[in-house]
Amino acid sequence: MLLSSDAYSYRSGVLYCEEVPLDEIARRAGTPCYVYSSRAVLNRFRAYKGALEGFPHLVSYAVKANSNLALLRLLAEAGAGFDIVSGGELFRVIQAGGDPSRVVFSGVGKTPAEIEYALKSSIYAFHCESEGELGLIEALSARLGVRARVALRVNPDVDAGAHPYISTGMREHKFGIEMAEAESLYRRAQKLPHLSLEGVSCHIGSQILEVEPLLEALDRLLELARRLRQAGLPIRHLDLGGGLGIPYRLSDAAPNIAEFVKQVRRRMEGQDLFLILEPGRSIVGEAGVLLTTVLYRKPGATREFIIVDAAMNDLLRPSLYQSHHEIFAVRQSLRGTVRADVVGPVCESGDFLALDREMPNALPGDVLAVWTAGAYGFVLASNYNSRPRPPEVLVEADRWRIVRARETYEDLIRGESV
Ligand SMILES: *Cc1c(COP(=O)(O)O)cnc(C)c1O
Repeated sequence: MLLSSDAYSYRSGVLYCEEVPLDEIARRAGTPCYVYSSRAVLNRFRAYKGALEGFPHLVSYAVKANSNLALLRLLAEAGAGFDIVSGGELFRVIQAGGDPSRVVFSGVGKTPAEIEYALKSSIYAFHCESEGELGLIEALSARLGVRARVALRVNPDVDAGAHPYISTGMREHKFGIEMAEAESLYRRAQKLPHLSLEGVSCHIGSQILEVEPLLEALDRLLELARRLRQAGLPIRHLDLGGGLGIPYRLSDAAPNIAEFVKQVRRRMEGQDLFLILEPGRSIVGEAGVLLTTVLYRKPGATREFIIVDAAMNDLLRPSLYQSHHEIFAVRQSLRGTVRADVVGPVCESGDFLALDREMPNALPGDVLAVWTAGAYGFVLASNYNSRPRPPEVLVEADRWRIVRARETYEDLIRGESV
């Protein structure tokens, strides 16, 4: 199998993350276990930053993709802002040493407590999705005696071509405000004394593998910004959201980050607008793998099963989105391949990591690496079937450390009483 990655490589038949053999991490940290390459994260973040050098911008990492404190710290130190969708994410950013004045708060259902927390933390801006939300932010800002910077998240009605669950920018979606309604809402909101309507924003979806829909959304936002300025609104920033896809299949071609950002920049040149981008998956997705050990091999009536110790509670994406993750043997063998389903121990038929896949002929005890698991991996993990969530490991060159401990049985019952 030919791997092309800036972080993972086979050396003498063993899969390495940077300079660390993954079988060493599996042996010492146990499996299942998430592993992240700091180099892969920083390379991608710097691809965004580098292409915007000299242009006013903020790269706000979307915390929901992977909210581990050590990763947030790494990105904060590299100069990242953060896109949050909850008060809990703001708490994490602050705990990690992130700067609240570089935080934008997105989401359709912000609660009063979350808005108050964000106002008291002096975040950069709220990206609002309804008139009701604008009214609430106005009221809470008035009570606290502050003025909130606000952008409306509009719905540019472009089809990002992604899975229906992760496509967000069309008229029928719950996200954003209709383009046609946006202008009049901006004008009404302009009259609210504790809001400063300075931005336009959108986020059209996720795992987008063609840049055209993103550029089309940008054109529509630029047009809206022009019209709003003509109407006297002090529009200063444009937020294009996140959404750039990654190669989940070795055969996928994903957009090059720097080239995409340069195209965005070219369109923004001379418009006197501050650019915000909110990448999540494209920064952390390729940086992570999920290590899992084969427990059993079982011949089924129609196919072979490889039963592993990781399950849908650890990595939900295959079950939730039927998404594809390549799976590699951490130690290459001469045993050839086998066509199999790779399944976990959870009591659901929907619990699988791969279906009907040509797999390394792995035997009990062998360690496998589930590829591109850095985004929407651990953050979607649950305790379903009372399974403690796996640890997370951060690799930096030839060093590695556990940045979230494996949960214990005691953790499973914390807060419960009989
Ligand atoms: C989820 C989300 C992002 C990040 O999306 P990716 O596809 O991970 O880049 C950015 N902005 C908003 C508003 C989001 O909801």
